[in-house]
Amino acid sequence: MIRGITGHTKILGVMGYPVTYSLSPKMHNRALEVLGLDYVYLAFPVPIDRFCQAIDGFFACESILGFNLTIPHKQKILTHLIEVSPIAQAVGAVNTIKRSTLGWIGTNTDVEGFIYPLKKLDFNLEAVLVLGSGGAAKAVIVGCQKLGIKKIHVVGRNPSKLEELQQQFPVTSHPWDQIENLLTHLDLVVNCTPIGMAEQPGSPLNKQQIDMLKPQTIVYDLIYTPRPTELLKLAQAKGLTTIDGLEMLLYQGALALEFWLEVPAPIGIMAEAIGR
Ligand code: NAP
Repeated sequence: MIRGITGHTKILGVMGYPVTYSLSPKMHNRALEVLGLDYVYLAFPVPIDRFCQAIDGFFACESILGFNLTIPHKQKILTHLIEVSPIAQAVGAVNTIKRSTLGWIGTNTDVEGFIYPLKKLDFNLEAVLVLGSGGAAKAVIVGCQKLGIKKIHVVGRNPSKLEELQQQFPVTSHPWDQIENLLTHLDLVVNCTPIGMAEQPGSPLNKQQIDMLKPQTIVYDLIYTPRPTELLKLAQAKGLTTIDGLEMLLYQGALALEFWLEVPAPIGIMAEAIGR
């Protein structure tokens, strides 16, 4: 993995907390190697209370050309940017920034990363259920709007966050205990909660609820470890089309690389690097 790092090597990376679990260094370093570029991509664990210090310090270091942001920094970065792309403004969160002469500029590649595998499937999508009301749910909602999905339902456990989402986006929100009224009408279900990750095992929908979905419903889980998640296992057992979080990780990463370097990303190589 370590290439000929010299005094000229430029730095990209991902800032988050925690971030050591990230597959992005594997994916991006392989891409940079294949592109023959003198860059390295690193993970930067930065706790929330040191964030402002880190952002200013990174700008002072001229070899750092850009980086991704993940939990918990995607919204906090907004006030540190001199320019925010329209898509990041629509989401209210930034996952990729790059250096310009006067300061950091930011965008959001999660939206297009989410959409990409759905576009490949070319299904007719009219009604979606988004599970969860956090940062990823916002990118997914903007993605659904871009796809022209007419009915966007959101289920969450936090009434004030649901209220906020309903004010920000054209969505209808519901508490979890009303989920069963929605299931029979959906073309797409997207899990934007951490339920199903190693730290929160389980599935946001149980078998009976999965059985209520139409045979054409696509089940999309943003989680990429484990693969498949319990949710996707249940959906696959019913014969439904499923998409896992590795797809979104891959495409948001490819778009971030193109934003930084302005060269086409080697998607096949990046996919291989993360075991897709
Ligand atoms: P977040 O901002 O913390 O939001 C998580 C949401 O899930 C919140 O609405 C939270 O509710 C809800 N939630 C958490 N535990 C729950 C439970 N036990 N029951 C019901 N709801 C629960 O996190 P995020 O950034 O949106 O990320 C969400 C998931 O997407 C994570 O698993 C993350 O790894 C994944 N993700 C994947 C990609 C990718 O590229 N594949 C990109 C981004 C995110 P409260 O608001 O009440 O806490």
